[in-house]
Amino acid sequence: MRKTTQVTTATTETASCIFCRIVRKEAPASIIYEDDKVIAFLDIRPLNEGHTLIIPKTHYETVYDIPEDQLSRIYKIVKRLAIVVKDATKADGITIIQQNGHAAGQEVFHLHVHIVPRYEGQTLPHFRDIPNASREQLEQAAKRIKQRLKS
Ligand code: 5GP
Ligand code: ZN
Repeated sequence: MRKTTQVTTATTETASCIFCRIVRKEAPASIIYEDDKVIAFLDIRPLNEGHTLIIPKTHYETVYDIPEDQLSRIYKIVKRLAIVVKDATKADGITIIQQNGHAAGQEVFHLHVHIVPRYEGQTLPHFRDIPNASREQLEQAAKRIKQRLKS
């Protein structure tokens, strides 16, 4: 049965927020982790396979808005998923990045942490210059990561 989730709003209206829509399962996403407060799914424009976004289910725009305890919960999951994503993708390294404000490169104004698998010699482009992956590619990558998360 499809799990429904209510999004609680901390700062602004969430009806049009793409990440709130993913939380409510109104928009498709390749979800790799979910609990009552946090959800993680694959970025639609991955730098490399396994590029993951971890978000609070509550709509906070930036690090300035989110309470410390909720940010701590997110980073506990970040730590766990960073290890699993690195293992699943055989990445040489993992970049963990969280952008606040347009000047910092933030594009979606619902706080999110990126886990980006990195390989020797590859530079980090601006995220908005990366092309979309297909849903099939994302689902296959999500499956590989979820298998590792279970074991
Ligand atoms: P920012 O630049 O705000 O740190 O990153 C936003 C990220 O959200 C981008 O890497 C972008 O590809 C990703 N993104 C934007 N819209 C969607 C979407 O509908 N689904 C998924 N899975 N990722 C999205
Ligand atoms: Zn939102």
